[in-house]
Amino acid sequence: MRATPRAALMGATLCAACGPSPQRPSDDVQTPLEQYVTVPLTADLSGLSDAQRDVIPLLIEAAEEMDRVFWLQAWGDPDSLLRNIEDPGLRRLVEVNYGPWDRLGGYAPLLPGVGPRPPGARFYPEGLTKEQFESYVAAHPDQAEALRDLYTLVRRSEDGSLTAIPYHVAFAEQHERAAEKLRQAADLAEDAGFVRYLELRADALLTGNYRASDLAWMDMKDNTLELVIGPIETYDDALFGYKAAHEAYVLLKDRDWSQRLARYTSLLPELQRGLPVPDPYRQEQPGSDSELNAYDALYYAGQANAGSKTIAINLPNDENVQLRKGTRRLQLKNSMRAKFDSILLPITAELIAADQRPNVTFDAFFGNVMFHEVAHGLGIKNTINGRGTVRAALQEHYSPLEEAKADILGLYMSGALRERGELTQGTREDDLVTFLASIFRSVRFGASSAHGRANMIQFAWFQEQGAFAKDSATGRYRVDFGRMERAARDLAAQLLRVQGDGDYAGAGRLLAQRGVVPATLQVDLDRLGTSGIPVDLVFRQGIQILLP
Ligand code: ZN
Repeated sequence: MRATPRAALMGATLCAACGPSPQRPSDDVQTPLEQYVTVPLTADLSGLSDAQRDVIPLLIEAAEEMDRVFWLQAWGDPDSLLRNIEDPGLRRLVEVNYGPWDRLGGYAPLLPGVGPRPPGARFYPEGLTKEQFESYVAAHPDQAEALRDLYTLVRRSEDGSLTAIPYHVAFAEQHERAAEKLRQAADLAEDAGFVRYLELRADALLTGNYRASDLAWMDMKDNTLELVIGPIETYDDALFGYKAAHEAYVLLKDRDWSQRLARYTSLLPELQRGLPVPDPYRQEQPGSDSELNAYDALYYAGQANAGSKTIAINLPNDENVQLRKGTRRLQLKNSMRAKFDSILLPITAELIAADQRPNVTFDAFFGNVMFHEVAHGLGIKNTINGRGTVRAALQEHYSPLEEAKADILGLYMSGALRERGELTQGTREDDLVTFLASIFRSVRFGASSAHGRANMIQFAWFQEQGAFAKDSATGRYRVDFGRMERAARDLAAQLLRVQGDGDYAGAGRLLAQRGVVPATLQVDLDRLGTSGIPVDLVFRQGIQILLP
């Protein structure tokens, strides 16, 4: 069954550190290309069977088709753009951004004459405004569902009318090639659940009906190789957030870590009951089948590979599947380790008080990101006052608020688990100081990133509440542990209420007041740029990197 437009609007879970952003340190501090550090994407494949090794290149080839489609959604034909750029550094930068707009720099144009990025990218006709779309849909209610659908492009006909073209028609060539690779992979794959998923996902790419494959994806439990592929996240549609962009991740499950993570999922209902809000705001039951696994990433493609790199995923986005099967959270450990080493530790050295620097640890970073993911599944997806889904009610404010909720509830949860003796690794001080250091990292994604704005809200709130102090002599920050705990709890309650009330105006006020970078913080961000600390990663990836 096809996702209804309403279902399509709901609950996409946006995950960590994806998405675009501005607030790059001024150009003389760090060029757009210097914001990226290139790291090889590798993993230990020695535990794989020959058949599993043979599957990997097929999965990567299918992923490459998603990459091609994403170019068309984000810009258009990449070759015509890239071949006219002589400077190899600039060409590389345009490649990394999947188009001529700087995803780490508020979509500032990277090439002369390209103009501003259209908010609706190429999902909608050129120049179409929100108002024009809404008035057209109001006048043609029979087309509303198709035009708002997650899996259609909107195009304008010669007579000015709008039409919806399903992705599997618009991108038939790429979908067919990807489906063929998935079928070949299914022939070789050993795990029955994975085989079934690959076959159903191939069908989905050909028909546009993704639900059966999403269900099959949730049903598979024992596979070592993992694939996320298709039109999935809606971040790139800044006009409405309706349209899914194509992406893929080829992943290898880390069984040891996954076992360590498994026990936290069993605590989800208890964690939901413990949320610091009145009952109506915590009345929904998180799916009982949700799971949390750690992986090493083998390949990123499309939206996942554009600009800032995702280190944690929570899927599927289809609420119908979420309610029936829960979600799966995927922590990408090798990507996280690369970000921790190349970015978070240097930020810590620059901005965290010397005595609290030992509290910034990979375990705490891994934990905070993990609980961020769990927290996406907590709270409520539907407003408590008949305003429909939280996502539909909050519209373009939904993404930054949902990310802020996930960050802050994640922190609240790790504290609750420590109190229960369920989480014993590291210390609470590690959680909190690492969280603050991570805010500096994520604020650098800027205001065009949901995660960037989410972190600005948290920084502003923590500052107002005295959760940290800045030493005027050194310019470094020190956490006040008690105040930060209280501030986190209060912000969690506030965000859950705005969501539950479907309070669009309140969400807008919160973002306008706090979802910005204050001048004092900008000075610190510029220091990070001056010190040459990268903002994000670019991967050297592919089968020749994995199997040299
Ligand atoms: Zn997230």
